[in-house]
Amino acid sequence: MKTVVPAWDLPAVPVEGTEARFPVRHVYCVGRNYAEHAAEMGGDATKEPPFFFMKAADTILPVARGEVGRMAYPQATKSLHHEVELVVAIGERGADFDAPDALRHVFGYAVGLDMTRRDLQAAAKESRRPWDMGKSFAQAAPIGPIHPVSAGGHRSRGAITLDVNGVRRQAGDLRDMIWDVAHTLAFLSKLCELEPGDLVYTGTPAGVAAVVAGDRLDARVVGLAPLVLDIVRRA
Ligand code: MN
Repeated sequence: MKTVVPAWDLPAVPVEGTEARFPVRHVYCVGRNYAEHAAEMGGDATKEPPFFFMKAADTILPVARGEVGRMAYPQATKSLHHEVELVVAIGERGADFDAPDALRHVFGYAVGLDMTRRDLQAAAKESRRPWDMGKSFAQAAPIGPIHPVSAGGHRSRGAITLDVNGVRRQAGDLRDMIWDVAHTLAFLSKLCELEPGDLVYTGTPAGVAAVVAGDRLDARVVGLAPLVLDIVRRA
């Protein structure tokens, strides 16, 4: 295809056990999905349906197994927060499905970070304006390798943690998600048709906090390849 400006590479994530990659179409994220995190953000999410926001597909920062990713500290913020999350990779198209039918749409799972310019998000909330500038910016969605369901099955329990410079900042269990993967996908499918290539960041446990250039983040979900990331000064 001829293009009138230089074209870019298709955003894509490494997949365990194959050289082939997972091409990224949409990046959906769930708001408050762990009760303790909802509380720290000043709400009680336990009785509400999940809500969603998006990041641009080219904000993913894929990090291969055994590699250390490098995220440049973004512009326009003084409060870059980490949110460790289980990421669901969609492999099969579907809309308007219910939770019992949801998991067949899943290709696999990965560890992700929903990096957030918290000061911009807070200002947007305060003025009842959109969150986009707090959530969707360069390298805002680091993600480790995707583990296919065909190899490792589905993920509904187990530790989810984030260490910064070797110190534990976030710790939870996938069991503590207010809406599990199946219910989350069912809700989302009633808003948007899910398509192969979609990623769904499923929310973060308590303990979100700021990072600075020089910090090393180590994000883990038991059974998945860890996601290790250095925050570096923006060139
Ligand atoms: Mn999040």
